Amino acid sequence: MKNDSLEYSLQTRILHHKHKTDPTNGAVSVPIQHASTFHQEGLDSFGKYDYARSGNPTREALEDTIAQLENGTAGFAFASGMAAISTTFMMLSSGDHLVITEDVYGGTFRFTTEVLTKLGIEHTFVDMTKVEEVKQAIQPNTKMIYIETPSNPTMKITPIKAIVDLAKESGSLTVLDNTFMTPVLQRPLDLGVDVVVHSATKFIGGHSDVIAGLAVVKDSALAEKLGFLQNSFGAVLGPQDCWLILRGMKTMHTRMEASTKTAVEIAQWLTTHPAVKHVYYPGLKDHPGFDLHQAQSDSPGAVLSFELADREAVKKVVDAIEIPVFAVSLGAVESILSYPALMSHAAMPAHEREKRGISDGLLRLSVGLEKSEDLIKDFDQAFNQTL
Ligand SMILES: *Cc1c(COP(=O)(O)O)cnc(C)c1O
Repeated sequence: MKNDSLEYSLQTRILHHKHKTDPTNGAVSVPIQHASTFHQEGLDSFGKYDYARSGNPTREALEDTIAQLENGTAGFAFASGMAAISTTFMMLSSGDHLVITEDVYGGTFRFTTEVLTKLGIEHTFVDMTKVEEVKQAIQPNTKMIYIETPSNPTMKITPIKAIVDLAKESGSLTVLDNTFMTPVLQRPLDLGVDVVVHSATKFIGGHSDVIAGLAVVKDSALAEKLGFLQNSFGAVLGPQDCWLILRGMKTMHTRMEASTKTAVEIAQWLTTHPAVKHVYYPGLKDHPGFDLHQAQSDSPGAVLSFELADREAVKKVVDAIEIPVFAVSLGAVESILSYPALMSHAAMPAHEREKRGISDGLLRLSVGLEKSEDLIKDFDQAFNQTL
């Protein structure tokens, strides 16, 4: 492919883009450029790269690729999802106000409540699924609205377009954490969102072997701002890790498709099991926001949560389960079972957790690439320990 042609589907473009071969020797894997600095030909002829914090060819390949997949114009790679998110927050200044979804990722909750507040940046948490509540929360100094949809771990669906419209009216930026969906399943820039952020540690990398973050924008002034902040803050992703993300991305479409198919089967089975009190999954017809999610994304994705009777039942299941790893994180080839109350949301006070439905009986499952019958069999034997 000679240019970043949009004629082909994302499934094809994920593999065939301008970095698919190395122009110097035809290598079909992006070279890992470790150099921290670049020789300049002369006083009057500085090259494209000078110092690797400001620009590195391997990172550039990753940044171009994610930008293209999100239908943006500029991508930025960071040392972690939190580095991408906190650098994006640095677009705010002291005295500014942020409206943020109340069931935001635990680390983002911590950064907002314990770091942004110290810098004089105010915030209001809202139930982002309720447009009226978001409208009420907007103040004259509101400069950013921060969305996560589906949200973690109860999979609430935010109406992206309606929030973008509100933000435009009030002159604020919209930022959306697209980690659970990836550009394969949801492309927020197409719906008018200003900045998309990712923990590439999850589905984009996909193999539980690298910590990384990405951000993508469409607008050139925003690209310049974020590029300046990336270089100033300096939390860039190293070349080896950029390569790991590029390598993981090659199978991202196929992984998302396969894991989602299994997640749908497991979610439906979970609703029939007597040990399960409730299943949170946007692929279930009775899930609040089912229609909305279907309208603004391509599929319900591979993450679901379910509620057991209590912490005692959770303990029995975690002790008995064999296939999924029991761990923090999600979005990998292996299924990952996690306990939000003590893992992703450990930074959140108990009363805040419970308000958000993150009870002591709640488990989150990120579905991997195992055979769905095997996962169901395993959960069945583990659940039967609790009955
Ligand atoms: C993991 C995660 C993050 C943070 O990413 P790191 O790579 O761990 O820094 C942010 N948002 C969501 C939704 C996540 O799942």
